[in-house]
Amino acid sequence: MNAITTIDRAQREYSPGVKAALARKPQLYINGEWVDSSGGTLIDVEDPSNGKIVSSFCEATDKDVDRAVAAARAAFDDGRWRNLPPIQREKIMHRLADLIEANADEFAELEAIDVGKPKSMAGAVDVPGAVSHIRYMAGWAGKINGETIAPYSMPNGTIFGYTLKEPVGVCAQIVPWNFPLLMATLKISPALAAGCTTVLKPAEQTSLTALRLADMCHEAGIPAGVVNIITGYGHTAGDRMVKHPDVDKVAFTGSTEIGKLINRNATATLKHVTLELGGKSPVVVMPDVDVAETAPGIAGAIFFNSGQVCVAGSRLYAHKSVFDKVVEGMAETAEFWAPRASLDPAGHMGPLVSAEQHERVMGYIDAGKRDGATVLMGGDVPSSDGGYYVNPTILTDVNPQMSVVREEIFGPVVVAQRFDDLNDVVRQANDTPYGLAAGVWTRDVSAAVRIAAQLKAGTVWINTHAMIDTALPFGGYKESGIGHEQGRLGLEAYLETKSVIMKL
Ligand code: ADP
Repeated sequence: MNAITTIDRAQREYSPGVKAALARKPQLYINGEWVDSSGGTLIDVEDPSNGKIVSSFCEATDKDVDRAVAAARAAFDDGRWRNLPPIQREKIMHRLADLIEANADEFAELEAIDVGKPKSMAGAVDVPGAVSHIRYMAGWAGKINGETIAPYSMPNGTIFGYTLKEPVGVCAQIVPWNFPLLMATLKISPALAAGCTTVLKPAEQTSLTALRLADMCHEAGIPAGVVNIITGYGHTAGDRMVKHPDVDKVAFTGSTEIGKLINRNATATLKHVTLELGGKSPVVVMPDVDVAETAPGIAGAIFFNSGQVCVAGSRLYAHKSVFDKVVEGMAETAEFWAPRASLDPAGHMGPLVSAEQHERVMGYIDAGKRDGATVLMGGDVPSSDGGYYVNPTILTDVNPQMSVVREEIFGPVVVAQRFDDLNDVVRQANDTPYGLAAGVWTRDVSAAVRIAAQLKAGTVWINTHAMIDTALPFGGYKESGIGHEQGRLGLEAYLETKSVIMKL
């Protein structure tokens, strides 16, 4: 523990390239150009590793949103993107991926400074993940086909019926702050492959990499108006995007609370909607596990990205025969996950993204203590000169009524519970309004497959956690979302299907 208390949490010096990116003039990327906002109000960029203001960007006004949507509308309607030979769309998308790869180090550092995540993690996960989303969807651009369908109620040979797959139109895409570049590329990639145009808004806490992404879209040769990137607040600019009559589809990743609001607002004009929302994902540990392998895995399931992950394994259910050993094994990872400044090369976990998030997470921890939970590890704030650090935390002696068990904390806090009855643990795991993800750890293949079938979640991991691959669809059951991203289903969410019926 001594090693943890003596960590120097001072932020490291930024690289020259990143300093230049931070010094850029605050502007919006609309219709293939960097333009001033009509409002002139700026939003500060804060480095959560020390709480210092390091840059600023524009707060988009309603007028700016309207301008961006008009650009996307015109670019869609005149077919400058959707009517290109698919091989061109594919090539341009690969060029965009190449540019991100060529600037990977800068993207990783910007993400580290903006979100607070370790640069090494951003470089290993966020940036290659972003590239992977673009390349995978680029491959779909030339493989979008309808089908010919034989009639059912009419004599064969009397009609010729076929379907066309067409891009859905202008998209409003709104992303959160936990994986800014990854989420931005997850959104724009299927839209681009399908032939849509888009207005993307990053979260107000983390807009740096989206602005650099706009530079790359420009350089890659994406035609003007096809991708528009505007910065600003959710309740103003985001709200305007969602309600705009010229927007055909809304794609949102964020909290369930805002997702519900967005769904209601988008429904007024019956827009297509996909929502990737919150979670309180259970992790079930069976009696037969190898604790030495499992404990670090489930520690990573919650502490990766400071627990600011929608699929974080935040509810642990370990069989009573292994419970003590599993939580002890998790506690042994405390030093590995000890929070450090995001540019400290020794770090695996950084601070939380903001003061607000810090207050929220500490509020949950305090509520857990008040409700009678035992703090097995962490539960406190490490010493630092500014910054929003929280120690990785394990709470035991919890019950299903506690807010720490029921609500999404979005921080490095896991509630650990022991179970006895193998049948009942699935009921407990499913006892949540969320249904985003779940995990099972066992060496018994049959048990794993059986439990995976019973868990009400859009993704179930077996002997791993948070392993995302862009080819596999990702979506939430229950209050964790509507529709899918990634994989073929992720592309389909950006396509309309038209039936054409010809009398012969
Ligand atoms: P979190 O709780 O993770 O901060 P939110 O769900 O509040 O996430 O925000 C995620 C994204 O949604 C951000 O880009 C934010 O600006 C945007 N947003 C917030 N409120 C609204 C709203 N009323 N309409 C549209 N977008 C919104």
